Amino acid sequence: MEELLPEEHMEEGQCPLCGEKAEMGPWPDEIEDDGTPFTVIADKDVNCKSCRKYTLGEPLAALKADYGSRLHLISGFTRDHWDRTGERLRLTRDYLDKHLAQEPTPSQCIEKLLLHLRRKSEPEGFGAEVELHTQRDKAVAFARSRKEFKNFIDELVKDGHATEVESKRGPDIVVLKLTPKGCDRAKELDPSGGEPGRPAD
Ligand SMILES: [Zn+2]
Repeated sequence: MEELLPEEHMEEGQCPLCGEKAEMGPWPDEIEDDGTPFTVIADKDVNCKSCRKYTLGEPLAALKADYGSRLHLISGFTRDHWDRTGERLRLTRDYLDKHLAQEPTPSQCIEKLLLHLRRKSEPEGFGAEVELHTQRDKAVAFARSRKEFKNFIDELVKDGHATEVESKRGPDIVVLKLTPKGCDRAKELDPSGGEPGRPAD
């Protein structure tokens, strides 16, 4: 997919969805037209560690006014889209009205986390260690907060779909391994996804 802006033209800023440090394309210019100021509506690219790469296809103020309490869900959409396709999701009012009509249930959030775990396990094979940052990766489970994300992780482990590996990688890092049961469940949820290969005996 064609990039809208060369990456070097991006500036340091704050992700409008999650507040993490991000790189962003320039904001729209105010232009005087016969004395009447108006805002050029142009796509804005954002590269965020948490939401990954996406494009704002509507003015930010309008999005914040109408979807302000659901920004964590929008982070979830952009992250999911980038992780699955490697392409920017373009956020428009049409897209958001359609996709935000129903808030995901906690079990759907946990299923998203499980599918993320499978995706991350694929390159190394079954039982690979997958590192999650409790703040920056909470978007993979559409979680509103770090605390909610940790609860989803605990549920996944309680259900036997993953095991937690003890790690000394810092208080923000949780390391998980997909279990055979979790692998089967992921396959039920999304048969099109690949199955992590089992290590050779
Ligand atoms: Zn973000």
